[in-house]
Amino acid sequence: MIPGPTEFEPEVMMAVGAPTTSHVAPDFIESFGHALEMMREVWLAPSGQPFIIAGSGTLAMDLAGANLVEPGDRALVISTGYFGDRYAELLKRYGAEVTALKAPAGEVVSDAAVETELKRKRYKLMTFTHVDTSTAVRVDPEPLGLLGEKHGVITVLDGVCSVAGEVIRQDEWKIDVVFTASQKAVGVPPGLALLVASPRAMEAWKGRKSPVGSYYSDWTHWLPVMKAYEERRPAYFGTPAVNLVSALEVSLRLILKEGMEARFRRHSDRGTAFRKAMRGMGLTMIPASEEVSANTLSAPLYPEGVKGADFMKAIGDSDVIVAGGLLPGIKDTYFRVGHMGAVTNGDILTTVAAIDGALSACGYRK
Ligand SMILES: *Cc1c(COP(=O)(O)O)cnc(C)c1O
Repeated sequence: MIPGPTEFEPEVMMAVGAPTTSHVAPDFIESFGHALEMMREVWLAPSGQPFIIAGSGTLAMDLAGANLVEPGDRALVISTGYFGDRYAELLKRYGAEVTALKAPAGEVVSDAAVETELKRKRYKLMTFTHVDTSTAVRVDPEPLGLLGEKHGVITVLDGVCSVAGEVIRQDEWKIDVVFTASQKAVGVPPGLALLVASPRAMEAWKGRKSPVGSYYSDWTHWLPVMKAYEERRPAYFGTPAVNLVSALEVSLRLILKEGMEARFRRHSDRGTAFRKAMRGMGLTMIPASEEVSANTLSAPLYPEGVKGADFMKAIGDSDVIVAGGLLPGIKDTYFRVGHMGAVTNGDILTTVAAIDGALSACGYRK
């Protein structure tokens, strides 16, 4: 029950374990092409350009940074935790002049504060994290996408802990780049960076004056490959992660079979139920309100008198695996539970019972 790698459907694992074909075998070309097409449906981005590239979610962050930033460009990073801070560092590496608006742990930066900053200086790019996996805080991406459009700023959504779990309507919300990694709500073992770029983002990349500062991330190499697979032609830049791409096709099929609206609702129902159960036990959560609480994971604080190390040891005996805290400074005060992707109601109940048992073992009584 950690926030990635998550649990995977048996059909997905069958594809991971199948004999590996050539990356230009007709069956594989079909799977790759179909996976690209389905990404547009999952991201709700009919006009977007999808990319599937071997690497982790951090590579997806790198793809957007490397391709869209030129030395001296101004970038605004809205940080709600660990991954926002990472993005500020990453963009600096490509020569961006970064301004960070940081929210206190558990809170979000107000849209008004973002707009004030966008009026103060001309920015090329703005990044925000949909669900920061370190805090379980969820940002509302829609007003930020619309603000980006209004002020002519390219918007980049880190959706690693949200795509295929939280509501995202990339085209409607005018968000230029939305990316994730395979091992979170998309439901495929780690190893794929998945990104969809808007026509405006692709134009900004085409209009660059300097070459992209990363050889591997450069869309110059990958765009022809993605186009070829979608047209069901073989192509090569770097050998794709064949089994993972086949597994992604299977998982995206399952996601679309469930339907995006039903999937969003299921995550919302499970997330809400889990938080209610935690509150029922007398626990409080890092996110300051329901409105800013993620549905893909939760971050409950240890109640008074319970030590993190003791709790982790006790819950380990129950065969339920949860994650520790992640945000520097407060990481020993809370734990994290992922409830995204293939997680069932039964998993939620078992986890709630295990947490209850572990707290009791630590001497906690509500
Ligand atoms: C997991 C995660 C990342 C990093 O992904 P890796 O696959 O670990 O490189 C980035 N952003 C968010 C919001 C994440 O949850």
